[in-house]
This record gives sequence, C-alpha cells and structure tokens, in this order.
Amino acid sequence: MFDTLSDRLTSVLQNLRGKGRLSDADIDATCREIRIALLEADVALPVVRAFIAGVKQRAKGAEVSQALNPAQQVVKIVNEELIGILGGETRRLNLAKNPPTVIMLAGLQGAGKTTLAGKLAKWLRGQGHAPLLVACDLQRPNAVTQLQVVGQRAGVAVFAPEPGNGVGDPVDVARRGIDEARRAQHDVVVVDTAGRLGIDEEMMRQAADIRQAVQPDEVLFVVDAMIGQDAVTTAEAFRDGVGFTGVVLTKLDGDARGGAALSVRQVTGQPIMFASNGEKLEDFDVFHPDRMASRILGMGDVLTLIEQAEQAFDAEQAEQAAQKIGSGQLTLEDFLEQMLAIRKMGPIANLLGMLPGAGQMKEAMAQVDEKHLDRLQAIIRGMTPAERADPKMINASRRLRIAKGSGVQVSEVNDLVNRFFEARKMMSQMAGRFGL
Ligand code: GDP
Repeated sequence: MFDTLSDRLTSVLQNLRGKGRLSDADIDATCREIRIALLEADVALPVVRAFIAGVKQRAKGAEVSQALNPAQQVVKIVNEELIGILGGETRRLNLAKNPPTVIMLAGLQGAGKTTLAGKLAKWLRGQGHAPLLVACDLQRPNAVTQLQVVGQRAGVAVFAPEPGNGVGDPVDVARRGIDEARRAQHDVVVVDTAGRLGIDEEMMRQAADIRQAVQPDEVLFVVDAMIGQDAVTTAEAFRDGVGFTGVVLTKLDGDARGGAALSVRQVTGQPIMFASNGEKLEDFDVFHPDRMASRILGMGDVLTLIEQAEQAFDAEQAEQAAQKIGSGQLTLEDFLEQMLAIRKMGPIANLLGMLPGAGQMKEAMAQVDEKHLDRLQAIIRGMTPAERADPKMINASRRLRIAKGSGVQVSEVNDLVNRFFEARKMMSQMAGRFGL
C-alpha cells in the first residue's frame, strides 16, 4: 500500500537527519524531492502543488519548537499536511435518526462494489447493526448471485428481485428493498448499484434515479486505487453525475502507487471513509487520515495493529499466556493458540507493514512465508495433547511419528521443537528482565 511513495518520502526525510539547522536551500531541495515522489506516485498535480506550497511555507516560517530538531519539525509538518490532504478528521458514517439508514454504493464496474457490500455488511454487523443488502445491479450477469454469495459469507440477509418480477428496474428494486428492511427490522440498508466499464451517461442516470428515489443517507463512491490518474476523472464524473457523500478506496493491496486515490479527497471535496485492501471480507477498515499518513511516512500504524489485536485475542487467554511466559511454562498448545490468534489478524506481511520503520523491514516481510506457518500448525496438530503440554517428552520415535502424521520431514519437527525450547528460554529471561 503506497509502498513506493512511502519509501521515497522516508528516505527524503531521513536525509535531513542530523542537520542542526535547515537553510532555505535545504527546505527547497527537500520539497523538490517530495514533489517528485508525489508525482511519481500519481498524486494529481494541483494536489501536489498545494501540498508543497503548504510544507514550504510552514517549514520556512516561524514554527520554532523547543522539543523538536529541525528535521523532526519538517517530518511533523509533512505529516500534518499529508493528514490534511487525506481529509483531516476520520469521517464516521451518518446514521439516520429514523432507521433504516440507507447507504448507496456507486462506481465503475470492477471497482469492487459488490465485494465492498459484503465487507461493509460484515463490519456493520460487528458494530451491532442488522444490515440488509439490496441487489440493484441488474446489468452485469451474475451480479445478483455474487451479492447473494457475499451476503451469505458475511452472514447477512440479501434482498434481490425474484426472476420475472420487477427485473430490469433497479429503482423499483431499491424501493422494495427498503420496504423489506422496514418490515424485517433491518436498521441499515446497503444498496449495490450497476457500474459500467467506463464513464457512461446511462449508468449515471440510473444511479442518479436511484439516489433521487430512495434519498440515501450516504452515497459512497467506490474507486479502484489501481486505475491511476483515471481515479480522479472518474471521481469528478460521479460527483457531477450522481453526487456522493464519501469515498471508498479499494484494492489498496494491489499497487505500489495508488497516489491518484490520495487526490480524490482534495479534488472532490468528499472524505475517504473506508479502505479495502484484499479480496477477503475482513480486508477492510475505516479510513483514518492520521493513521494512513503515519504509515506513508514509515511511522507505522500501531493503533490499527492494537485494534486488530484486541479483536483477535481473548484478554484472559493473553493474560494466562503472559504468566506462563514469565514462569517458563509456555506449552506448544499455548504457542499454537497464540499463532492462530495472530494469524486471525490477517497476513503477517500486512501486520509487519503497520509497524514503525516498516520500510526497512521489506526483506524480513518477503521472508514471512504463510505456507511455512501452515506447516508449523500441521506439525503441532500432529502431536498428542500430552506432547503439546510437555514438549520434553517428544523423543526420537515420537518425532518420527509426528513427521509422518503431518506429512513433513523429521528435520522440520526437530527444528520446531528445538526452536520452541530456545524461544521459551529467551522469553522467560526477557520477562524476568522486564519484571513481568
Ligand atoms: P463491482 O463490479 O464494482 O461490483 O466489483 P466486484 O466487487 O465484483 O470486484 C471486482 C473484482 O475485484 C473482484 O474480482 C474482487 O474480488 C476484486 N476486489 C474487490 N475489492 C478488492 C480489494 O480490495 N483488493 C483486491 N485485490 N481485489 C479486490
């Protein structure tokens, strides 16, 4: 996600380190490099200009801080300006005073609307809502079925036109969907609409008609971050043709650039509300401008990491594990539980990407092999409960049996057991040192 931009900005800012004073020439040179980095990442020119002007003015101005050295001050300014172009405050969903809240999705075909409908529904459910998905994409073959599939995966109800009754009129389906939500007491309705491969008047008219008919509380413009500069033109076309109240960036996992998506907020004046970064339902999050800026500048996104950890870990279980670590009594069973909880948070590479200094951890990230983790899990699962509880009893013949049972080489079992003992010893020493 924004990898190239992040690498470039981090290295530009690192060049300032150790300088006692920054001359105007230093600031100009830094701004020139930031400008190139932003343009190369596809950030739209007017946005780049405004950004650079803001940074330059503030960096050269009288912002003197006792606490920060000049280089840190520039980082602080760049960070704040970046938060600014990303929209400043996190923008939460507007919920209707009289439910149901209606959220309409609009965007080009392939932008990820239907996938997003599922993600949004799952997320809303997690927030205690009872969403209903309404299938108004009657254009694309299979779109209705696709929505039914994601709805099922997300565990939410889907309203779709019955064949032969109302098919072909998405406005009618949207209206009936909302009636159904009232009847079945759904408090949020997500209306999926049809897209086209390119900007198309008929599509715009249809989306505008639906908007007019159902008066949604939110119209979310869904845009694929990988389409480069077209993201900006598409956003402008939807702003003028349909109008929207918020933006969802999708496929942030895909491209290293994606800077065009960063321009959408500035160009359209509407906030980015959610970000989607993968094909799975859980690859989705509320968009926080400050956290994203922090990630782009290689300062990490520890807050998101903590939130994901809170969702994945059971507090009591974590407390017990911590005690066991301290007393050197961690078992392979605990190890397996911890590993499963961590993996529930998402791919390890994504997690590492949220840590500060992630830019320099690229090599380590590339080496995290999910398949290797699968094998470790298989090996531990191939052990008896007694072996997991007391790994010391795993002798040569037991190792052979475990290897056979889990389809790996004996050397892999040896490796796992030996490393486990080393790690347990190290963790208990560290826990001792920190007084845990
Ligand atoms: P729609 O035409 O706007 O409804 O788009 P779809 O929801 O059908 O998505 C188009 C394709 O993009 C599908 O293959 C999705 O699996 C994929 N997709 C959607 N969101 C993401 C994302 O955040 N990351 C990636 N990598 N793929 C996505």
